[in-house]
Amino acid sequence: MNRVFNFSAGPSMLPLPVLEKAAAELIVYGDSGMSVMEMSHRSPDYEAIIADAEAMLRKLMNIPDNYKVLFLQGGASTQFAAVPLNLIGRTGKADYVVSGQFSGKAFKEAQKMGYDVVCAATSKEDNFDHIPTLTRDMFRPDASYVHICYNNTIYGTKYQDIPDTGDIPLVADMSSCILSEPVDVSRFGVIYAGAQKNMAPAGLTIVIVREDLLEYADPKMPTMLEWKTMAENGSMYNTPPCYTIYVAKLVYEWLLSIGGLPEMKKYNEKKAAVLYDYLDSQSYYLAPVKKESRSMMNVTFVTGDAELDKKFAKEAGAKGLKNLKGHRSVGGMRASIYNAMPHEGVEALVAFMKEFAANNPKA
Ligand SMILES: *Cc1c(COP(=O)(O)O)cnc(C)c1O
Repeated sequence: MNRVFNFSAGPSMLPLPVLEKAAAELIVYGDSGMSVMEMSHRSPDYEAIIADAEAMLRKLMNIPDNYKVLFLQGGASTQFAAVPLNLIGRTGKADYVVSGQFSGKAFKEAQKMGYDVVCAATSKEDNFDHIPTLTRDMFRPDASYVHICYNNTIYGTKYQDIPDTGDIPLVADMSSCILSEPVDVSRFGVIYAGAQKNMAPAGLTIVIVREDLLEYADPKMPTMLEWKTMAENGSMYNTPPCYTIYVAKLVYEWLLSIGGLPEMKKYNEKKAAVLYDYLDSQSYYLAPVKKESRSMMNVTFVTGDAELDKKFAKEAGAKGLKNLKGHRSVGGMRASIYNAMPHEGVEALVAFMKEFAANNPKA
């Protein structure tokens, strides 16, 4: 069977060369005589895999030496709890920007733990159709950190600039945009991301943390959530998600082979432009997100008629354009066009959109 264009928000497409390499090495890896799935995480073969994965990620993202890179489990959602547990000890309070569902969940999780947290800004009253404008004076100067979600997967919005938080460490959930373009890591205290959007299969969570921020953990916190413990043990305090880290390594290798994140960004920009240019050129579909907040990774649109939206997703699916239905909480359509989505996938989607609009005139 042919592979389809899979517009799923996550887990999502992986680059074909990565799948091919993983398939070729599935049963016997190198001269180890076994699959990576069967290897001890303490074996020399595996130690080389995780060391290479870290070195490649550092190279790709240009991660400064004073940052630790952690390969963890539990998904980005576990970090919603781990962030306050690791950082609140700085000053006892923290500020959040709520720009969508995931940042809202992160905020609620910190609140639930009884910490002094406030929502410094939100775009909730506008259905999260933009990123709130942020200025330094909106944050409490003694906040332990400011938490943001850099790309809002469900609504299709993204920060176009890194907010200025002065000396307050900035913590960013980058689950759905990590590796899509270069970012200046030194502007952040912590970056974290679930892998299954743009990096690897599910099961791996990356945390990139500035070393001086490892000193503020709540002493009562669960060991498994403590970044310092994980950093001191090279992400091997317990068994890491071995196979997923291996696939992530293959993805990093692929990214480096195509020219790294500057080239990836150019490709992603062209791809997203095909879709947005079409959306801006017609009136059948509506793109609810404000232009200045548009995401390059998740593109949302609606026909304005819930029945037509349903029909659209169904007929597109039948043509090999899969998973275009919007998030269950917002409806409409969402095309997730991460790194691994080929340009032809977006071209095929726009062709289908034109055809659907012609065949289904609105009353
Ligand atoms: C998918 C997603 C999450 C949730 O990730 P899990 O790994 O499923 O916990 C959190 N934040 C963002 C921005 C996401 O896209």
